[in-house]
Amino acid sequence: MKGRNRASPLSLQNRLALTYILFISAALGSLTLAINRFTHIRFNTLIQENGSAKSQEIVRVIGDLYNPLQGGFDSRTVEAMGMYFVHEGYIVSVEDAQGETVWNARSCDMQQCVEVLSSISARMEGQFGLNGRMQQQRYPVRYKGMTVGWVRIESYGPFFYSETETRFLGSINRLLLVAGLFLVFLSAGIAVELSRSIARPVLQAAEAARAIARVHARRAPPETIRIRDQYKTRELQDLSCSINELAAALEAAEHRQKQLSADIAHELRTPLTCLQGNVEAMIDGVYTPDREHLLSCHEEIIRLSHLVEELHILTGLEWDRMSLNKSVFDLAKLVQVSTEQFKAAAHEKGIALELNLIESPIEADYDRLKQVFMNLLSNAVKYTDSGAIRVSIEKRGPGSRHWDCIIADTGMGIPEEDMPHVFERFYRTDKSRSRSTGGAGIGLSIAAAIVSAHGGAITVERAGKEQGGPGSVFRVAL
Ligand code: ADP
Repeated sequence: MKGRNRASPLSLQNRLALTYILFISAALGSLTLAINRFTHIRFNTLIQENGSAKSQEIVRVIGDLYNPLQGGFDSRTVEAMGMYFVHEGYIVSVEDAQGETVWNARSCDMQQCVEVLSSISARMEGQFGLNGRMQQQRYPVRYKGMTVGWVRIESYGPFFYSETETRFLGSINRLLLVAGLFLVFLSAGIAVELSRSIARPVLQAAEAARAIARVHARRAPPETIRIRDQYKTRELQDLSCSINELAAALEAAEHRQKQLSADIAHELRTPLTCLQGNVEAMIDGVYTPDREHLLSCHEEIIRLSHLVEELHILTGLEWDRMSLNKSVFDLAKLVQVSTEQFKAAAHEKGIALELNLIESPIEADYDRLKQVFMNLLSNAVKYTDSGAIRVSIEKRGPGSRHWDCIIADTGMGIPEEDMPHVFERFYRTDKSRSRSTGGAGIGLSIAAAIVSAHGGAITVERAGKEQGGPGSVFRVAL
């Protein structure tokens, strides 16, 4: 929120739309100008070519009016044609072979000539900004290879547009302008829609992130927050997917936290209720505070302090990101030392403890790994009533520095459906939570956290015939 209030930058949608519109307008403007320039250049070349063709035509027409019998031009027709050419913008004068004027448009109708020429120059200079000037060309008129006269043609040069051509150019320019404006408006519409479609998921993601923050800061009632995560643009899809993943991860963390509190409360309640009942009964005189009742209280206190100790280790492992105090030692020695501590308990239950260890140098945290094997061995002894517990170490492959330590028992085994969950906190396979075996379901999660901090993994499977099954086989890969 603070970040949003600090300044009020342009929204993503406006920025994108503005950029698109500027870019497209510039591109279309340049394109329209280029088409306009190109059309004009091509058109002017064509007009110039037409101009010289027209001069040739005038000379040919006047040449046709030469009468060889009379040895001169038919002056009445020359005048008629000459005035026609004046209307087209060409001031013509005809001379005989000696250079004597036969007919001259200016002396015939000076006013008409001036009007036509000034209207052409006004059009060319005013409308097209072309500063041309009057140009004159003299062409010979030939009859049977002899020069029989001259035609002098005066016109606005280097070229000029007739009225029809001027109208044609005007309509081309208008068409280009209208097409350009239409395209600019069309692209502006597309740009606005496009930027909106890009900005919408980003805004949604921002709104969802704020909603997640509100829910997790307890400023809003708990709810499942998910946004649409199917987009055709990869980055937008990534963004919305990561928001959904974040929401799911936070919900899972919240759920785990609630579950942990509920589990701890549940685990503490049973020994506390037991203690409370015993102590109240002694206060009320129902029980005499003899050794038997005090022992029962003491047992609950031990169970409580054991539970608190395990919880302490587990939270330490989860929150401290586990700092390992590594040293190089022989894994076989560590396993042997750990096994020693269960010899008496196994012997008491009539279970054989078989070791098949090989020298296995390893760099690890000795005390933490010892905790792992103590937990696994303690479970093996706890959940096995007869048969044997076999502990062995295997090399992953020739030359490999990875070791597998296998603890196989012939006990009650773990039901198939419980297999994926036994490493979860407080998970016990006895659903009634019978406390006959005494565990709180934390030992394996501690072991799994330690092994994973070492970059290894713990797995469990049901024992096969070769391990003397039924029973469980725990494999610690380091
Ligand atoms: P607990 O303190 O209850 O033993 P653990 O996390 O060590 O907690 O074990 C979780 C559950 O997995 C146990 O409650 C038990 O049901 C099951 N389990 C663990 N090890 C064995 C084993 N070797 N044989 C049979 N079940 C086992």
